[in-house]
Amino acid sequence: MSGGPTTRFAPAPTGRLHLGHLANAIYVWGLAHRLAGRVILRIEDHDRQRCRPEFEAALLDDLDRLGIAADEPATDELRAGPSSYRQSDNGPIYDAALQQLERATLVYACDCSRSTFAAWRAAHGRPWTGAGCPTGCFERGLEARRDLTLRVALGAGDETWDDLLVGRRSGAVSAEGDPPVRDRNGNWTYAFCVVVDDMRHGVDLAVRGEDLLDATPDQIRLARLLGRDEPPRFAHHPLIRHADGSKLSKADGATSIGELLDRGRSEGLIGEAAHRVGLSAMLQPLKFEDALDLVG
Ligand SMILES: [Zn+2]
Repeated sequence: MSGGPTTRFAPAPTGRLHLGHLANAIYVWGLAHRLAGRVILRIEDHDRQRCRPEFEAALLDDLDRLGIAADEPATDELRAGPSSYRQSDNGPIYDAALQQLERATLVYACDCSRSTFAAWRAAHGRPWTGAGCPTGCFERGLEARRDLTLRVALGAGDETWDDLLVGRRSGAVSAEGDPPVRDRNGNWTYAFCVVVDDMRHGVDLAVRGEDLLDATPDQIRLARLLGRDEPPRFAHHPLIRHADGSKLSKADGATSIGELLDRGRSEGLIGEAAHRVGLSAMLQPLKFEDALDLVG
């Protein structure tokens, strides 16, 4: 047992792994290595419409083939059945966290759709910002039907944090309105699950892409509302981008690593991920362990 932080690698099985996941893995294990910490693996399959068991099976296989192993759980433990490290196996935990927020009268049903937000934007010349939602659902006290979004009232103000990679940051809470905790399809949201999971798994260092910088103030506030006095520390790293600056996504077939791994190219892929994220000036094959030394 080390005295360092606990961090996590937490892919969503909505497609095959791509180079962006590898870049994240280098930072996650690299910072854990540098700080004498440990890494847990978590399957973030809160979105039941987009996640598929075959994608989870493929990502576990890909991690094994890359030689990337978490301190817990082992990939075989996830293959064996239900796990505390798979979101879809832990519905009652999210229910309990929701009830905790409900007892504090912070949760409300909202019937605003995308078009409600768009109409507000058209009428005011700017997107909805700050606490609440365009039609004041908190005050309306709608019945919490399954087909309505549930939002949490986080309150106003800013949250500030000392990011391990990008320095001191602060941002407004509820910058785009009160965040949903459950969507109208009945899915728990990423923003809610990740806060609950980091608490229950003892994660005190979140290492992730800089596209999530804007989500951080809400996650710090939500952690406080759920009783976490000391929110996790954060480290936001650069993303691999296309030449035009856009973010890689799972829809980019060319960046999926599965086929290349099938051909035994793991060191080439790790080297490419490290290079494209700016950790390595040279494009050269790298062992995962050697890539970790580039972080920090
Ligand atoms: Zn609303």
